[in-house]
Amino acid sequence: MSKRDKITQIKKEVENLKSSPLYKYRVQNNYKPVIGRGSLNADIMFIGEAPGKNEAETGKPFVGAAGKVLDQLLKIVDLDRTKVCISNIVMDRPPANRDPHPTEIKLYSPFVFRLIEIINPKVIATLGRISMREMFKYYEIENKLDTIGRIHGQIFETKSANPKIIPLYHPAAALYNRGLLETMKKDFTKIKSASS
Ligand code: URA
Repeated sequence: MSKRDKITQIKKEVENLKSSPLYKYRVQNNYKPVIGRGSLNADIMFIGEAPGKNEAETGKPFVGAAGKVLDQLLKIVDLDRTKVCISNIVMDRPPANRDPHPTEIKLYSPFVFRLIEIINPKVIATLGRISMREMFKYYEIENKLDTIGRIHGQIFETKSANPKIIPLYHPAAALYNRGLLETMKKDFTKIKSASS
């Protein structure tokens, strides 16, 4: 199966994920699941938390206010959105943008891990503490886990050559705390060097 066919398969499965507590909310609001966007051959993957309203309406990740911050940061480090791959640990919008529940993370994360396996990136940049925690668990480096305030911008090796993991603050954090933007800019400059 081609990479595209494998991703189409994931999309179909998520679209029909009736066992999800978020399924009914999606259908009632005419929302779409957000599988991901970008290059099938990306060296860098960004994994956020869950779609917000704009994302659920369009089926695309990071197209709202947090997406604008992400675009700004990508531009600063000269990364093209179409050359990276962007997804979320949960693929449907939680009501009122609440944090995804552990049961939801458990249900959706296997799809994200399948997506990662298909893309096979050199670097996974996690956006926010939720996807950071899930990636550290999945790649069995949970012993290295700390608060995002302590480990943001650090490069973590996993047991195999790829991927390396870089925990980053969630772009939405810069909407509430503009001072964080400078820190995030510095962190973003490390992504490119880790992928080369
Ligand atoms: N926040 C996220 O974590 N993901 C999105 O796609 C949009 C906002």
